[in-house]
Amino acid sequence: MPSVYIKTYGCQMNERDSEAVAAQLVAKGFTLAPSEHVADVILLNTCSVRDQAEQKALNKMENVAAAVRRSRPHVRLGFLGCMAQSRGRELIDRLPDVDLVIGTQKSHRTADYLDALFAGRLDQVVDVEEEKGSEAAIHEHLINRAPAVPSVTAFVSIMQGCNQYCTFCIVPYTRGAERSRTIPDIVTECRELIDRGVKEVTLLGQIVTSYGKREVGERNGKSAFVQLLEAVHEIAGLERIRFTSPHPRGYGDDLVEAYLRLPKLCESAHLPVQSGSDRVLKLMHRGYTRERFLGIVEKLRRARPEMGITTDIIVGFPGETEADFEETLSLVRGISFDNAFCFKYSPRRDTPAAAMPDQVSREVIEERHRRLLDLVNEIGKSKYRHYVGQQVQILVEGPSRKTPARLEGRTRKNKILVFEGSERHRGRLLDVHITRSGSFTLYGEPAILNESTTPGKAGGFES
Ligand code: SAM
Repeated sequence: MPSVYIKTYGCQMNERDSEAVAAQLVAKGFTLAPSEHVADVILLNTCSVRDQAEQKALNKMENVAAAVRRSRPHVRLGFLGCMAQSRGRELIDRLPDVDLVIGTQKSHRTADYLDALFAGRLDQVVDVEEEKGSEAAIHEHLINRAPAVPSVTAFVSIMQGCNQYCTFCIVPYTRGAERSRTIPDIVTECRELIDRGVKEVTLLGQIVTSYGKREVGERNGKSAFVQLLEAVHEIAGLERIRFTSPHPRGYGDDLVEAYLRLPKLCESAHLPVQSGSDRVLKLMHRGYTRERFLGIVEKLRRARPEMGITTDIIVGFPGETEADFEETLSLVRGISFDNAFCFKYSPRRDTPAAAMPDQVSREVIEERHRRLLDLVNEIGKSKYRHYVGQQVQILVEGPSRKTPARLEGRTRKNKILVFEGSERHRGRLLDVHITRSGSFTLYGEPAILNESTTPGKAGGFES
C-alpha cells in the first residue's frame, strides 16, 4: 500500500483534522511516511487565516511538485483544509500537478479519493461541497490505529464552523456554519482515548462557547458547552480537561463556575481579546467591550486566583490609531497575560475589513507588532521567573521538542516544563520542583512520583 505524508499549517483544529485523515488512511492500509521525500502521497493541510500561511503552502507545493515530477512521477499531491476550501479549482489551475483539492467538510473522504486516483478511476479531484453531518466524521485517532504512536494528550473536535462573522476573519467562509457533535458521541471518543492511555483531552472548536446552542440547548441554567464539560469530567481515568477557543461574547458565569466545580478542568484559559480599544472591537464586530472582557478575567481570577490566561491580539486592524493601539498595550499590561499570540492584520478576501477605509501601513503594523511583542515577552519573562522555587504537577508528554534528550510536560496552567527524566517518567503525572525559567519555558527536576500510567508520544505527521 502507498505511504502518505501530511504537512499541517495553522491551528490546532487543522492538526486534529490531519490526524483524523492520517488515521483513516492507516485504517485503509496506507502507511505513514517519515518525510515527503519517500512518500507516495503528499498532502498539505492548509490555513487561510493570514496571507502568509497561504503563501507558505503554495510555495511548498510548487517546490514539492517540481521535485516529485522529475524523479517520482507516481506520487500524488493534494491540498486539504481552509485554502483548499476557499480556492478550490483555482489551485489546480495554478498548480496543474496537484491531483486533489479537498475542502473542510470532505476531509474524511480523502482515503476514498486516493483509492480512486491510484486505481485510475479518477484523474483529478476537487471536492469543496458542504456535507451534512461532516462535523461528526472527525473522530479517528492515530492512537487507535497505530499502537506504535501512543500519546497521553489528545485533541477532540467537538464542533465545526463559526457563525460569528468577525469582520477580519475568513473562517466562517472556509469552515461553514456552526455544527456541533452530540455529547454521547464526544464522550465515547474520549472514553476510547482514555482506554488507550490518554490522560488529558483538549476540546476543540472555533468558538467552543457556542457549542451545541441549537443541537443541545441550555438546561438548568447551564450552557450546552458546560453540560459537555460535566459529561467528559465524569470519565474515569481522565486526569485533565482543556478547551480552546472560547469567545468572550458567550463566556457565561456557568463556565466560570465550572472551574470551581470540576477539578479536572485545568486552570488555564485562552481567551482571544483581539484589541483593547472599544472602537476597534466594534469595527471588528466582536460583540463585547473592553470592560466586559476585563470583567470575565476578574471573575476567572476570583474563581481560580492562579489561573493562567493567554490571548490572541491583532495589530493594525483598519482604522486602528496610535491611541487605539495604546489601549491594547494598557489592556495587556493591566491583565498581565501569561502569553499572547500577536498577529499582524492580514486582509482576507471577501471579509468586510479588507474593504474598510484607513488600512494601516505595513511599516506601522510592523512597528506596533514589535512593541506589543516586547511587552508580552517582558511580562511573560517576569511571570515565568515567579514560578522558580515552586513545586508544580506536570503531565509528562515525551521528549522535549527543543532538546529531545530531555523530557517535557505541561503544568496545569499550560506551561511547558523541561526536565532531565527517564523513560519511566513518560506519561506520568509528576510533581516537579522548578529550578529556572527561560523564554516561555520552565526547567525543573522531579520531586515525587504520583502514579504510573502510559508511555509518551511520537509523531506520524508534521505540524
Ligand atoms: N476562536 C477565535 C476567536 O475568538 O476569534 C478565532 C480563531 S482564529 C482561527 C485564530 C486567530 O487568528 C484569531 O483569534 C485572530 O487573532 C487571528 N486572525 C484571524 N483573522 C486574522 C486576520 N485577517 N489577520 C490577522 N490575524 C487574524
